[in-house]
Amino acid sequence: MQEMYRRRRSRQVRVGRCLVGGDAPVSVQSMTKTDTRDVEATMAEIYRLHVAGCDIVRLAVPDAEAAAALQSIRRQTEMPLVADIHFDHRLALAALEAGVDKLRLNPGNIGTRAKVEEVVRAARDRAVPIRIGVNAGSLEKDILERSGRVPDALVESALRHVDILESCGFEDIVISLKASDVRTMIAAYERIADRVPYALHLGVTEAGPVFQGTVKSAVGIGHLLAQGIGDTLRVSLTGDGGEEVRVGHEILYALGLKVKRLEIVSCPSCGRCEIDLFTVVREAERRLADADLPPMKVAIMGCVVNGPGESMEADVGLAGGNGLGILFRNGRIVRRVREAEMIDALVEECRRFAADVDRAG
Ligand code: SF4
Repeated sequence: MQEMYRRRRSRQVRVGRCLVGGDAPVSVQSMTKTDTRDVEATMAEIYRLHVAGCDIVRLAVPDAEAAAALQSIRRQTEMPLVADIHFDHRLALAALEAGVDKLRLNPGNIGTRAKVEEVVRAARDRAVPIRIGVNAGSLEKDILERSGRVPDALVESALRHVDILESCGFEDIVISLKASDVRTMIAAYERIADRVPYALHLGVTEAGPVFQGTVKSAVGIGHLLAQGIGDTLRVSLTGDGGEEVRVGHEILYALGLKVKRLEIVSCPSCGRCEIDLFTVVREAERRLADADLPPMKVAIMGCVVNGPGESMEADVGLAGGNGLGILFRNGRIVRRVREAEMIDALVEECRRFAADVDRAG
């Protein structure tokens, strides 16, 4: 899989301290759910997103008061900020003035050519990129009437906005083509990927409640990333923003696009299981999360059927066996431990592994 992975080449843009596109790592974004005018609440949320590992934060800018609040927010954080603007070009200008790092705005929706040019000039002066954010829920009327909410309609809408920016000589562009229907968004991104050189922001929009939204996002975003398509992503959940960020990272870990600090490979358990597997995994995950360890893979298996095999691939492994735990290191048996001592022994072996890595490095 790693060897087959070929990333689509895209034109890189800078969003504050974060690079998007080109050979930059795929970044994870989220959006504040607070009223942007409430600076204190919005700052608290930006901080929570930062702690969750968010790379870029978007804020809704529905009116002049929200745009003014950006000034104060900007002063308080280094987090790359994106202003989400609809219809009113003065809000885009005010957001740029406040020092945001990127605009999300569809140039076809902000009125006359002169207004677009004014925004483009201000963005270019500050080296701020613009994301064209097409959403299946808000397609232009003529496109919708002619084509319906099909992938080509999303692509056509995006290309229309791209034409406007390119005709102003502006190419620091990022594009998203979001739909709540997973197959529609996949096809739309696949089709535009060959037609423009710009970085792509992936997302399944309005993906729903946390569990469903996580699965839809993992399938849609993951399918595209696995083909090398996509430079930044946002998981949209009807839930906590930190959860959006965690799911985003987990998608990247699953595809090997980001190294996970602690990867636990554990079996689902079955009638052959010889230990209290769920408790061991839960406890090990809790204790290892707090330990100061290098990136490592830990296998925890219910029996010896697949235990040694999985442990060969892992740094440290534990397999249940006849009331005992068999501890592995790089696929070799280290020792056997009683069930009551299994978790302590596993954590201890992980610490030894960390110490050896430390000495070697
Ligand atoms: S490793 Fe053993 S206990 Fe776990 S699922 Fe496989 S056969 Fe069952």
